[in-house]
Amino acid sequence: MANEVRATTTMEKIVSLAKRRGFIFPSSEIYGGLNSCWDYGPLGVELKNNVKRAWWKANVQERDDLVGLDAGILMHPRVWEASGHLEGFTDPLVDCKNCKQRFRADHLTTERCPECGGELTEARNFNLMFKTYLGPVEESAAIVYLRPETAQGIFVNFQNVLTTTRKKIPFGVAQIGKSFRNEITPGNFTFRTREFEQMEIEYFVKPGTDEEFYKQWVEDRFKWYIDLGITPERLRLRPHDPDELAHYAKGCSDIEYYFPMGWSELEGIANRTDFDLKRHSEFSGNKLEVFDQETNEHYIPYVIEPSAGADRATLAFLLDAYTEEPDKDETRVVLRLHPALAPYKVGVLPLSRKEPLVKLAKEITAKLRRYWMTDYDDAKSIGRRYRRQDEIGTPYCVTVDFDSLEDQAVTIRDRDTMEQTRVPIAELVNVLREKLEF
Ligand SMILES: [Zn+2]
Repeated sequence: MANEVRATTTMEKIVSLAKRRGFIFPSSEIYGGLNSCWDYGPLGVELKNNVKRAWWKANVQERDDLVGLDAGILMHPRVWEASGHLEGFTDPLVDCKNCKQRFRADHLTTERCPECGGELTEARNFNLMFKTYLGPVEESAAIVYLRPETAQGIFVNFQNVLTTTRKKIPFGVAQIGKSFRNEITPGNFTFRTREFEQMEIEYFVKPGTDEEFYKQWVEDRFKWYIDLGITPERLRLRPHDPDELAHYAKGCSDIEYYFPMGWSELEGIANRTDFDLKRHSEFSGNKLEVFDQETNEHYIPYVIEPSAGADRATLAFLLDAYTEEPDKDETRVVLRLHPALAPYKVGVLPLSRKEPLVKLAKEITAKLRRYWMTDYDDAKSIGRRYRRQDEIGTPYCVTVDFDSLEDQAVTIRDRDTMEQTRVPIAELVNVLREKLEF
């Protein structure tokens, strides 16, 4: 069992740390919470924003062949007819005639209710899309859906993007946004929730080149998690079996992370072929195709779709960064987050609350805040403040002591090595900039 993969910690510990330090709170907690709904707190919003920013940087900013988009959550209802969601985005459900509980038929191992042993109804299909009404009248003509995926916003804007950016195949469109699925069994903290945020790319290619681009995207996306610090042993690639593939897909691979509940999907990379653009061409009457100058022919591009979850990625980074190590008689909890993801890059800690130390520390904080999220903390003992910064993943602490008033220098303490170096205050921004370049 030498190579057995282990999770860094339990989900309970992460849920507790997330609550205690302000990463993630239960939704509407003062009303008792709302099942499987969560709110990102002051540190959580920074972490999740940093995850999204790192994704955007790698896929939009640093590439010449991708552009961004931010489509609305509400879309024309015909979109979901064309995409197949209205008809096919369902789970088979059964109800217990005795205790009235509802289960997914394909998850049951017996023909009786797993809770009370009662008789079950026939399975019927339950659509996972959230339905609402556009405007004040609740009539069928006004029905709209909260989008179950961001992808369709990209497909329906295909012509708009093409004509305004003058991109040529191969090119892609990236989008980050909320999606909604009325899951029967959400759970495992923020892993599966009914409201979630996606980071999706639709990459358009010429049919025949799709296999090659599919492989490249699988590689690129896998590497992204490793580059941002995920432990390689806790990451694996799982190609789907042919019978697992969605109706539109020619191939699909999941990037899986070893969560406390076992291997689970972080991101799926699918070869969606020309399914979506073809369907939208049919349903809208607009030809969503490109012109090939070499062959003098019009064609509908194939699409490779790397589809990641911002919440899942955030949870995986949080879990993977968690470490406990012995520190004298106690345990030091450290979030070894990649500096690009850490909520605060710097913590400024005056050794004492006495003037003029506080004044100097606040001046330094104000200077650093122009560049980075900087936390200022002068409460309690310096040891406890270091511990708190370690636990929220702050890569560097700047300590202002009484010598600072004389030598105009401060101490930088490294979260991971705990090494301390003395730096002139005049050089502080430059030194930190070098350390925090990513
Ligand atoms: Zn029952």
